[in-house]
Amino acid sequence: MPKKVYIRTFGCQMNVRDSEIILGMLKKRGYTQVESPDRADVVLFNTCSVRKHAEDRVWSNIGVLRELKANNKPIIGIVGCMAQNYQDEVFRRFPYIDFVCGPANIYGIPDLVKKAGKEKTQLLAVNRVKRPLLCDGNSRKNKLKAFVSIMYGCNNFCSYCIVPYVRGRQLSRPLRHIIDEVKDLAGRGCPEITLLGQNVNSYGQDLKGKTGFVGLLEKLNRIEGIERIRFMTSHPKDASKKLFCAMRDLSKVCKHLHLPLQSGSDKILSLMNRGYTFRDYSGLIECLRKIIPDCNITSDIIVGFPQESEADFQKTYQAMQKIRFDQAFIFKYSPRPKTKAARLEDDVPLKVKQRRNNALLKLQKITSTVLVMFCVLLLFNGHVFAGNEVFRNAEALILKDSYSQAARECEKILARNPRARIKAKAYYLLGICLLKEGKFDQAKKNFNELLRRYPGSKFCDEAKAALSRSSFSVQVGCFAKEANARRLRDELINLGFGAYILKLKGESLYRVRVGKFAGRQDAQSLEQRLKTRGYPTKICQ
Ligand code: SAM
Ligand code: SF4
Repeated sequence: MPKKVYIRTFGCQMNVRDSEIILGMLKKRGYTQVESPDRADVVLFNTCSVRKHAEDRVWSNIGVLRELKANNKPIIGIVGCMAQNYQDEVFRRFPYIDFVCGPANIYGIPDLVKKAGKEKTQLLAVNRVKRPLLCDGNSRKNKLKAFVSIMYGCNNFCSYCIVPYVRGRQLSRPLRHIIDEVKDLAGRGCPEITLLGQNVNSYGQDLKGKTGFVGLLEKLNRIEGIERIRFMTSHPKDASKKLFCAMRDLSKVCKHLHLPLQSGSDKILSLMNRGYTFRDYSGLIECLRKIIPDCNITSDIIVGFPQESEADFQKTYQAMQKIRFDQAFIFKYSPRPKTKAARLEDDVPLKVKQRRNNALLKLQKITSTVLVMFCVLLLFNGHVFAGNEVFRNAEALILKDSYSQAARECEKILARNPRARIKAKAYYLLGICLLKEGKFDQAKKNFNELLRRYPGSKFCDEAKAALSRSSFSVQVGCFAKEANARRLRDELINLGFGAYILKLKGESLYRVRVGKFAGRQDAQSLEQRLKTRGYPTKICQ
């Protein structure tokens, strides 16, 4: 009987990648993966220590594993940052754990599992400071998108951050290893890669060779079969015009930059040891937007760092208003062991942290939707929102950006209401909702129905105009192989996007596009939805 392994991953993409590597090693030794711990011979938790909240979740989940253990089975291992952080304290708290293994020791996991099965002692593997630089190999589930670690650890020592203590100092993987891995992925038909590292744009600073991050991007951009290159995270202190130009000029590199700001107050940035001021940061954003005007910019923010006054917080609020991130992840500060900030008094009460967190979340939500609201109001020319009771729900849903629900409301109105004037408007609104969803063909059908049934309606001209203006679309991929384009199109259709393949005359490329829109703003709002699902996008006209 093949043995079964269950692995649960907490935390960031780097942990996701490490879990793939661990699974790959165990599968080579005959293990199969199962989705439930009670069916497994080996249970592994790959853990995260970045925030206290993440750790608390892991502790309570480890507690639940106690019930699983009977007759010394299954073998239970705690892996990753918490393993490194707490070491044998894990055994003291949970005596039924078989082994604890830090991130730099993960290549020893098959041996640990074997040993734990034979010897009935608890095993601690946290001794490695440097991770061995191996070719990580192929053990990925997703065949179309792959994470590729390009570096491990971090040298920056931001005062709040535990990463350098649990993941060690920056260690860039040799260029050759990365290129071989990416070529191997391309050979297996994987068109999209995401380069991972705590600070990808510091890549190579610890290597003897001259290739830095931009050089790496240039080399990867040349690999045949790779069609999209994404990367995260970048640090503002190493971001440069050279990087932004490379993002613009390298055709396969997606126009998305995750650039954590952390705070808008220079006092707090300095206490955080971030190495830049807000002015430096906004200068970078200005430069980026000049070079790539429609670049997607996302960020991380921490609220409630020690000594963050209301005035400091307001600076962060204003910074977010000024920059208008496409998306921002807001975190409440929590002190982390060993870090410099842990020596400062955690003096912002939890209630205040929560309030600041909510205020920034609300602001980000408004930033993301305000553009959409504006274009809806423009498109409807005011007169559609004439206070007709029948349309109250549909209109409210449209204003909330809930187009598929609004479309269902319109369909209900069409089914129930016999009055021509009402039906004409329902056809029109339904068509608009479908357009907003990027479903051009269905929208066209609806507008044609309106024109055929109610030729004298005032909505006919609006419908014709909406159709004729529909020249913007969102491109999600561009492939040399039609099969890859078809796979992406079908994936998008399954998610509810009106995707189609476009092959221009005289070109051998297959473009996967979504929607046809009258205005750039509509395309932008669709683009936003695609981006939040992790798709790289480009607006086309
Ligand atoms: N290397 C990236 C950088 O320089 O921004 C981010 C890495 S960190 C693992 C991910 C995010 O977690 C950080 O950007 C920060 O916003 C947040 N974070 C890290 N330590 C934190 C702490 N002690 N409390 C709250 N948030 C924290
Ligand atoms: Fe942590 Fe700062 Fe390194 Fe990012 S740059 S991993 S926040 S120490």
